[in-house]
Amino acid sequence: MSIFRCLHNSTRWLSTTRGTLARQFHDPLDHVTGIEKRELLAHLAGDCDPFRILMVPRGPGTYSRPNLMPSAFSKRLVGCVCNEHQMHVEWMWLYQGEPRRCGCGHWFELCPTAPL
Ligand SMILES: [Zn+2]
Repeated sequence: MSIFRCLHNSTRWLSTTRGTLARQFHDPLDHVTGIEKRELLAHLAGDCDPFRILMVPRGPGTYSRPNLMPSAFSKRLVGCVCNEHQMHVEWMWLYQGEPRRCGCGHWFELCPTAPL
């Protein structure tokens, strides 16, 4: 007797319809609360980076047009890969209202964003 036949003849065979499953399980959005719910709502609204943690492509990086780094706080730790062949990251703290220059010459400035 094959395993399939054994399971098929079992009295505890689980069989359900799609409608039954839909009635049994709630929407995951109804179960989450707090910041996780705000994150899910942001994803549903089309914001794929609600915490602003993805890499920001560098722009000109001059003093008059610095690279804007989003932050909901008054400071943020920022890493700069100064050269594309570089194997390490230069880290620096950025403070609100204080543009800062990396060792490679690029300027960075904190850009305030709304907290999640
Ligand atoms: Zn740099």
